[in-house]
Order: sequence, then C-alpha cells, then structure tokens
Amino acid sequence: MSVADVNLLRKQPLLSARSQSGSFWNEYTETMPREQLNELHLKRLQALLRYAYDRVPFYHELYKEAGLAPEDIRTLDDFNRYVPTIDKKDLVKAQSADPPWGDSVALSPDYYLYHFQTSGSTGTPLKIPFSLHTQLQYGEQWAYLYWGVGIRPHDSFYFAFPWGMYTGFWSAYWGVRCLGATVISGGGLNSEQRLHQIELLKPTVLVSTPTYALYLAELAKELGIDTSETAIKYTIHAGEPGPGIPTTRQAIEVAWGAKAYELYGVGEAGAIAPGCPDQQGCHFGEDQGYATVLDSSGNPVGPGEVGENVITSYIQMAQPVIKYRTHDLVRAHYDVCSCGRTWLLYEGGVLGRTDDMITIKGTNVYPAAIEYLLSDVPGLSNHYELHVAPGRLNDEVTVKVEPRPGTPAERYVPMEKDLQAVLKAKIGVTINVEVVEPSSLPRYELKAKRFFDHRAKKA
Ligand SMILES: [Zn+2]
Repeated sequence: MSVADVNLLRKQPLLSARSQSGSFWNEYTETMPREQLNELHLKRLQALLRYAYDRVPFYHELYKEAGLAPEDIRTLDDFNRYVPTIDKKDLVKAQSADPPWGDSVALSPDYYLYHFQTSGSTGTPLKIPFSLHTQLQYGEQWAYLYWGVGIRPHDSFYFAFPWGMYTGFWSAYWGVRCLGATVISGGGLNSEQRLHQIELLKPTVLVSTPTYALYLAELAKELGIDTSETAIKYTIHAGEPGPGIPTTRQAIEVAWGAKAYELYGVGEAGAIAPGCPDQQGCHFGEDQGYATVLDSSGNPVGPGEVGENVITSYIQMAQPVIKYRTHDLVRAHYDVCSCGRTWLLYEGGVLGRTDDMITIKGTNVYPAAIEYLLSDVPGLSNHYELHVAPGRLNDEVTVKVEPRPGTPAERYVPMEKDLQAVLKAKIGVTINVEVVEPSSLPRYELKAKRFFDHRAKKA
C-alpha cells in the first residue's frame, strides 16, 4: 500500500459529502423551494407523531389529554395549532418520576451510544440519551457548516475545551468524522499548553466558545505569540451568542486572522442551525427538524419579528423532542438567503433567552441587543456584563464594559456617555453604563456569564 493510499484511508469520511463541489453539503435539501420543504415537513411530522404516540408513554398521555390522535394532523397548520408544546421541565419531571430515564424515551438503554446531560444551570440537569443514528445525524449538522464555509478533509481541527457531559462539542467532533478531517484535542490542557500545541501542530480550524477564542488570543499576546500569524484560517463557535454579533465577530477575526462562524445548537434536539457561510446568522437545518417562532402567548410571530424558538427534531429518536420550547429568542426570515440556502435564517443567531429578557417601561430588552450596540462606540471591547437591580419605579439596568487595551483613562467618562446615548436612541430606555478597567471582568472557558439578576425572586 502506498503512502497516498494510507492517507486516503485515514481521511475516509464516515458519511460522504454529497455535493463534492460548491458550498453545499447537500444542495438538494439546502436549496429546496419552500413549498417542497413544507411537504417534506408534513410527512416527517406525521411519521414522528405516530412514532412517539406508539412508543413513548409521555407523548401518548399528553396527546390523549389534548384529545389528539396522530391521524388528526393533516396539514402543517393542524400541527402548529393543535399539537401541545413541551418544555425541558416536562422531560425533567418525567425522568425524576422514574429515574433515570422516565417514560419519555422511545428506545431501551441497549440502543444508547452516549449518555449526555444539560448543565443544570437552570435547575435539575436533563439526561439526554443518544443512539448511534442520532449521534451521526447531530454530527452531520456540523458537517453542513464545515463544508459550507469551505473547510475540506485536508483541514485539521483544534478542539480547545474540556470534553464534558454536554453534547455540543462531542457532536462537533462527529461532524469532523463525517467530513473526514483531522482532530487535535486540547482537552485536559491549560490555555498556555493549548497555544503551544496550536503553534506546533498548525491546525487550520479552531473550535471553541467565542469568549474563549478571545481569551486565548489575549493570553497569547502576553506570552508573545501572535495568534493572527498561526495556521488557523477558520474559527467555529457554539455555546453562546458571538459571531452573530458584528463587534464580537470582528474581534475574533482580527485576533486570529481568520473567518469566524457559529452553530446554534440545542443539546436536547441537535446541532439545529449551522451558521450561514455569508455570516448572516444561522440556517435552521430543515431536513432534520421543524421550527416555529412564537410570542409569549404562543402565537406565531411574523417574519423578522423576535420570538421564542420552538423546535421539533426528526433525528432525536431515543428521546423524541416535539414542539419543544427552547426559550431562545430569535428573529427568523424565510426568504432565499444571499448564500443560496432556502432554510430559514435566524438573523444574528440567538439574540438572548426568554429568562434573560428584562422589561423596562414596557420595552423588552435582551442582553445580545446591548452587545450588538457596543461596536457603535469606538474603543469599547465586547467584554461586558449586564446587571439588573430593582429601582424606585422600574428595574435598573447597568452595563459594565471594558475598553480596548491601551485606551487612556480620561476617555472612560466620554465613552460611558456615548454608549448611554446610543442605548437610549436605539433601545429607547435609559441604561446606566460603567466603563471598567481592561481585563477586570472574568473570562470563561465554556459559557460566559453576562447576565446578573439582583432582583429578589418572586415566590
Ligand atoms: Zn445564508
């Protein structure tokens, strides 16, 4: 066997890329006209409802109580109107009633390839079982992103995070396996060791949270390493809003001399929305699920309006997820994107969480909207925190933000005034601003904590 043959074996993808040229992993579904996509959705939703009704007691009971049988759903409108939504707490309750899996799973543990769980930051962790099929499909969603932005099997990936209980980056790994590229793991190393590995092994793709990519670049500077001179050409992010926000994307791209992309994932339902190659936001993978955007009363919002993303997965067959409230705030568009995809676009990625939404004098404010506006004031960085405290009449909101390193201290007060004016003009409410010393806010390896709620919790 020649060296070339050995290389070919090493790079053999698990699933073959179906569109070997151009920017589509699967051009057929990624450019499918809306009418045809809707026909596909209806067929898949009907089959999924039947599957869940027959195999999962949790759904059987839920639909029986709603007076619903799978054959009652004859149109997409029927599905949107009559099928009840569920929530993470419903699945947690089912698991707690009969640990570990409860009555919300469709397959016995013999079929589980992995056991994952959510972080539990908003309560009891939700356990998430994966079959091999589910894992490969979650991985393939990442392959849509990798291929779409131009990453090919000859590229090599640097995974800069600890390998934990969360599905996200494990699925990113399976995405690389689908593509057939090389993986370099930075798990178990500290940040300095990771930087030295990047210098030595010359990976072309960095996978991390956006905040950690910025932190690594900052640390590199202190160590005399210029990350923009490394071999990294692409940075790929998930876990928190980032590359959808122009100021953050620009900061990452400058620091690494690379193009920054993101994927919007929901652990329970999949790596649901690979980033747009034109950096317009994230496209919901419409061959692997169905999504609607609802207002706080559960009614659909119009295209371009902000609402809560509610999703159904066609690939999570171990623990089906049907009309699942994500609590993620998104702005969806259904026109064909500049990148050629017909899949619905979440403009700017995830804009925030319904739980983080603050209402000041009847105006809804979410953290990502504030992060968006930081770039309107020259000299501000994207390291910020948002604090909410009870005020005399309304909630009082304060943004703490760092300037870019090297900004003279006498600029701090004028920058505070400028940002306050921008926030007032664009959001319509008064928000306090404090410019704090560079590097004074904490940095995070996984999800960054931006939002601090000091209001007493209602009983
Ligand atoms: Zn696009």
